[in-house]
Amino acid sequence: MSKVSSSNVSAMYVKVGTLVYLKIRVWLIAKNKQPIYTQASKHNMSKLCIFCSIIAGQEPGVHIYRDHSFLVLMDKYPINPGHTLVMPIRHYETLLQMPPAEVGKLYSLVPAIAKAIVSAVKADGFNVGQNNGIAANQIVPHVHVHIVPRFHDDSPDGKWPERRVCSQEDLVNMAHKIKQEISLVRSK
Ligand SMILES: [Zn+2]
Repeated sequence: MSKVSSSNVSAMYVKVGTLVYLKIRVWLIAKNKQPIYTQASKHNMSKLCIFCSIIAGQEPGVHIYRDHSFLVLMDKYPINPGHTLVMPIRHYETLLQMPPAEVGKLYSLVPAIAKAIVSAVKADGFNVGQNNGIAANQIVPHVHVHIVPRFHDDSPDGKWPERRVCSQEDLVNMAHKIKQEISLVRSK
């Protein structure tokens, strides 16, 4: 029971932390009068970046895959179950700050992860999305690729399904299913 309570508290902490982070971020941007995409990082890690904090193990995140260059996480606010984020370990705010060869390596991970997700959730299709800048709806300024599984009946009105809050337990269970499929993909 204490484990459940602890994870709930952690989830709330991250949610509150993200909101505080976003408010600070928007304030800094307003103060500097610079669009978010011109503020290139000079360091490997941004102290204000929630993804860098997760990568450093300072904030919880549900991991699916990690190597020395890239991390794949479950999205805490998924559009559909199985929604994941593929990101570089090194902090780049947008794709324009990332060396093209690194962009290539990032995207080379996407089909393998997408295949595992589709298999794990029995999706009918999937979207791949990557936002750059506030105008493009980039919420966390650390490059990340969304992989969103889609289902024939998930959008009766033709719009994006709404994002939802997912429990830590559901995220961990989903990550476990996807991880099993990744090992199957690799063994073929
Ligand atoms: Zn970062």
